[in-house]
Amino acid sequence: MQVTGKILEVRKIISSARAEGKRIGFVPTMGALHEGHLSLIKAAGADCDFVAVSIFVNPIQFVPGEDYEQYPRPIEDDIEKSRRAGVSLLFNPSVDEMYPQEQLTRVYVKKLTENLCGRFREGHFEGVTTVVTKLFNIVQPDISYFGQKDAQQALVIKRMVADLNMPIEIKIRPTIRERDGLAMSSRNQYLNEAQRKQACCLYQALCDAREMIRSGEKKSEHIIKRMSDIIKNAGPCEIDYISIVDTETIEDVEQINKPVLIALAVKIGPARLIDNVIVDSNGNDVIIT
Ligand code: AMP
Repeated sequence: MQVTGKILEVRKIISSARAEGKRIGFVPTMGALHEGHLSLIKAAGADCDFVAVSIFVNPIQFVPGEDYEQYPRPIEDDIEKSRRAGVSLLFNPSVDEMYPQEQLTRVYVKKLTENLCGRFREGHFEGVTTVVTKLFNIVQPDISYFGQKDAQQALVIKRMVADLNMPIEIKIRPTIRERDGLAMSSRNQYLNEAQRKQACCLYQALCDAREMIRSGEKKSEHIIKRMSDIIKNAGPCEIDYISIVDTETIEDVEQINKPVLIALAVKIGPARLIDNVIVDSNGNDVIIT
């Protein structure tokens, strides 16, 4: 495995892999790697001959007051995990390497970024789409992998790639969970023992929502009320949103008669946690790819 923080070095390594006719898979991350990230790396390894992973805690996607400074950066561990996972190239640039001068250019996707996390993290998605565009231009992968865990992000990136004719295939992979259902996240480390126990209420609420739809409930309002009760009863928290939205437009849906993304963001102690499920109008899981 080659490890570098330098863009020029990445370009050299990638062009020699290409010259050997290799298909390049790419997994962008912010590090503190867990099984969720590793599942993306594994999917890339199954499709491609060369797997590049980036680790970059991107300052421009954090809103002032968020956890940019505290975000875990266990780089030695991450290098070891990547090596064991069979990664070919680990790119871990500094902020100066990625943003050497004032950046006058931004990539912004309209509409899909306005609801859900867009309502609470102003500028977040613009930071994501800008850095992902830069990373795509640096790595120039054939396929790039994203987790359904961040469903809105994945849909936004898919749309960006389509709208801007980026010659990259985007694959979305399912959410990997802890045994009690909590979606794996680098931010779970912020939780103390009691909060960690409490946090499994998020997936319980999502499963309950799915069950309600299976039993014939079609009104989002009723489902959201029940989810909110489950989460509030589990312990102290601050609910940013619990929403049921159209999987294509990310607009709120009042009556469930097509596939929906049921998504939530809840602060438990120091951690802002997000999770979601995607189901059709009968409550059957829908796999987005
Ligand atoms: P992050 O390092 O949190 O920015 O995530 C990097 C990539 O890993 C994103 O595409 C995430 O959606 C994905 N990811 C994060 N957590 C999970 C998970 N529990 N299951 C599957 N993918 C995940």
